[in-house]
Amino acid sequence: MSALSLADVYRARRRLYRRVVRTPLVESPTLSKVAGTRVLLKLETVQPTGSFKIRGATNAVGELAERGIERVVTASTGNHGRAVAYAARACGIEALVCLSALVPTNKVEAVRALGAQVRIVGNSQDDAEREALRLASEEGYSYVPPFDDLKVIAGQATIGLEIVEVLPDVAQIIVPLSGGGLFSGVAFAAKQSTPRVRMTGVTMRRGAAMHASLAAGEPVLVDEVDTLADSLGGGIGLANRYTFALTRALIDEALLVDEDAIARAILHAYRCERLVVEGAAAVGIAALLEGMVPRARATGGEHGPIVLVVSGANIDMNLHRRLALQAPPSDSLLRGAP
Ligand SMILES: *Cc1c(COP(=O)(O)O)cnc(C)c1O
Repeated sequence: MSALSLADVYRARRRLYRRVVRTPLVESPTLSKVAGTRVLLKLETVQPTGSFKIRGATNAVGELAERGIERVVTASTGNHGRAVAYAARACGIEALVCLSALVPTNKVEAVRALGAQVRIVGNSQDDAEREALRLASEEGYSYVPPFDDLKVIAGQATIGLEIVEVLPDVAQIIVPLSGGGLFSGVAFAAKQSTPRVRMTGVTMRRGAAMHASLAAGEPVLVDEVDTLADSLGGGIGLANRYTFALTRALIDEALLVDEDAIARAILHAYRCERLVVEGAAAVGIAALLEGMVPRARATGGEHGPIVLVVSGANIDMNLHRRLALQAPPSDSLLRGAP
């Protein structure tokens, strides 16, 4: 299917050891009630950079540093740039991060605060990526792709290992889906030991590049627009090498959620789970709350447990406060709030 192997994932896990959190898998009573089966949240929100991207970045940058590379460049919707900046600092090498003007200020500042150089280019993730690739070919930087890279995918796959180790009877894993590095990695690792696990990818309706590509049967371009799920923006690359094929082979169901549903999910996380999550991380909760998730049966015919990968916490806190103030606490979706 691809050149990714389970050995790569275990190698990634050894590189991540001590630098990356083995994140908690926490049961949500309110979401379990909504779903009619146990729902557990895989909390990547507690990673040092506030998202799972630290896993792939630490693996990829760590491998480059082991080979003596001293300068890396990347392009990012924010969280990958922050993760590369963190990993580069941990390895004692230089990082330059290209970001488009769509990236929220809080994320730009976070990258700078980690000591990386920042270059703001264009109005889309694709513009930022073109500049990063130019710097790689003309100025001697090593490029660390945000998702379409075997080291990055293997790093994200460690989430899948952790899930099946703690919950071997997991029936379904719901993963936010953009470029597909997270989805491919988690699905690959989980299906190695639990082939029956149902893998669901969720994307915002506005600008869903992987979703459109899966429907078309090949990578296609979509317009990048503003969305609450800003970390899911950007294309998958017309010359996609790994994540499109992996996602296509491993996905059981691809769902789309609206901006309203994402907003309600952010609020649900805040009020019922006591969690601050960014829009991209809320899409799985949104799909559940909207009743879009058909339950998968575990061995024995019971509805088995569902895991939601809650991918990141890096929402602009002013936006979070505005969302929290907008919706009345009696919103029907919040029934059952403690
Ligand atoms: C990058 C990101 C995703 C999507 O990951 P892909 O590998 O691009 O599919 C989801 N959630 C958050 C918070 C992210 O930063």
